[in-house]
Amino acid sequence: MSLPEAFVERLEKIVPREQFEAIISTFDAPKQVTFRVNTLKSTPNELEAELEAAKIPYERVVWDTEFMEGVYRIAPEDKLRLTSSDAFYGGRLYIQNLASMIAPWILAPKPEETVLDLAAAPGGKTLMLAGMMENTGWLSAVELSRERFFRLRDNLSSQGVTNAHTYMTDGRSVGKKCPEMFDRILLDAPCSSEARFKTHEPKSMSFWTIHKVKETSKLQRRLLLSAFDALKPGGKLLYCTCSFSPEENESPLQHLLERHGEHLTTIPLTLPFNNIQKPLQRWGKEVFDERIQNGVRILPTDTIDGFFLCLLEKKG
Ligand code: SAM
Repeated sequence: MSLPEAFVERLEKIVPREQFEAIISTFDAPKQVTFRVNTLKSTPNELEAELEAAKIPYERVVWDTEFMEGVYRIAPEDKLRLTSSDAFYGGRLYIQNLASMIAPWILAPKPEETVLDLAAAPGGKTLMLAGMMENTGWLSAVELSRERFFRLRDNLSSQGVTNAHTYMTDGRSVGKKCPEMFDRILLDAPCSSEARFKTHEPKSMSFWTIHKVKETSKLQRRLLLSAFDALKPGGKLLYCTCSFSPEENESPLQHLLERHGEHLTTIPLTLPFNNIQKPLQRWGKEVFDERIQNGVRILPTDTIDGFFLCLLEKKG
C-alpha cells in the first residue's frame, strides 16, 4: 500500500527538500530492532553477558560518552530470538525505538523528584523515567484508554517499577486537579502517529486524514495547557509526538505560548546525531513564536523513527 497522497504532499513541505526522498524510503524499509537495558533489574554488563550466553548477536548503540549507555540494536531477523530469551521474559531488557528513549533522556528526572507522565500507555517511557528515578520519588502515570491503561499497569509491574502511581483518567483534567505539583512532566501526546507509518502495514495509516490531524491538534492543545498548570514553577515540561504535522507540534506550543508565554522559556536541545531539523517558523498562515526554534524534529532513518521534541521550563 502506498502512503496517503495528502500526507506525502505535506511532508514535502515540512522536511528539507534534499532529504525528502531518503525520508520517504524509510516508510518501506524494515527497521532495525533496538532495545535498552532495564536498569531496575540489570546492568549493561550483565545484560551483555546474558545476550552472549544466549548467542544473540547485538551491536551497542554508541552516541557519545554522555549519551545513554546500555542501548543495543539487532538485525530484524534476530528479533524472535530476542523475544524468546530469558532476559526478555524477565524484564531485564525493553524493546523500544531510539526516538522513544530520547524523550526521557532529555527530561532527565532525578531520584526523589515528583514526575508526571500525562499520556503514558503502553509505558515504554514511564519505565525509563522510573529507571532514571531509581524507583524513588513519586511518578504519576495517566492514561485515558481502559485497555491501554491495563497494558501500562502490566508493563510497569513486569519491569519492576515500584514508584509509579497509575490513574485511568483524562489528562486534560489533571492540571486543575493537581496545580503546580510536579518537578518534571512528560507529555508524549496522542497523535496521528505519522512517523510510525509502514507501507507494508496498511493499518498503520488507514485512519489518517487531515481532519484527524486537526482534531488531534485540539486535544494536544488542551493536554499541553493541563500539563503546564500541573508544573511547579522552575519545573521542566517535555512536549513530544511521533508526528510530522506542524498542527500537532509547533501549533500546540504556539497556543501555550500565546496564553502563558510570559511564564515560560524553552531550552535548546542538542542531540548526538545529524538527522535533525529545527521546528518550522511558519506553516500556512500561522507564524510561530521564535522560542519554538529551540525544539527539534528528528528525521527518520532505518534505525530511528521520526519524532518532535520541545523542552519548556516554567519560570520560578
Ligand atoms: N508514552 C507512551 C509510551 O512511550 O509508551 C506512548 C503514549 S501514546 C503516544 C499517547 C497515549 O495517550 C495513548 O495511550 C492514548 O490512549 C492516550 N490518551 C489519549 N487521550 C488522552 C487523554 N485525554 N488523557 C490521557 N491520555 C490520553
